[in-house]
Amino acid sequence: MPHWILAAAASSDSNPFQSALDFFKSPTWHFITLMGYFLFAVLWIACAYWVFKDARRRVDDKIILAVCALTGIVFGPLGLIVYAIVRPPALLADSREQELEMRMMEQRLAEESRCSFCKTPVRDDYLVCPTCARRLRATCVSCGKPVEPSWRVCPYCETDVHGAMPPVSVYDRV
Ligand SMILES: [Zn+2]
Ligand SMILES: [Zn+2]
Repeated sequence: MPHWILAAAASSDSNPFQSALDFFKSPTWHFITLMGYFLFAVLWIACAYWVFKDARRRVDDKIILAVCALTGIVFGPLGLIVYAIVRPPALLADSREQELEMRMMEQRLAEESRCSFCKTPVRDDYLVCPTCARRLRATCVSCGKPVEPSWRVCPYCETDVHGAMPPVSVYDRV
């Protein structure tokens, strides 16, 4: 409020600004100011809380999380804007899930059988390697199912298959 208005108001009762000045001194104005401060404080706390809550879902490091929370508390809405710009894009839950998926895929790849000669990925029921044509498995003489070299008995028909796998691959062309 410019000082000339205050001076004019003080010098004359018929001042047109008098009612306005009275309003600024009234309890209503006081109440409005208080409400303003209160809303501002609520907004500030809400911003700080949101920053903390969001950071907790994105930041694993305790120190960085504390810095984020402090930014929200000290700078309020401004801190929220800054945080929203620099925050990590991925949620921790999402990145953990991705990591798990990657690990499962790696495991699956590792578990996948490979031809012991040329390392071509082969399925468990392949009898010969499709790339180098070496024998991977023998078949049961009775039921024709593929059997592992270590098996003594065919698990499908109980036929003795011990020694069914020739010591040297029949397709061996070395
Ligand atoms: Zn092979
Ligand atoms: Zn069999």
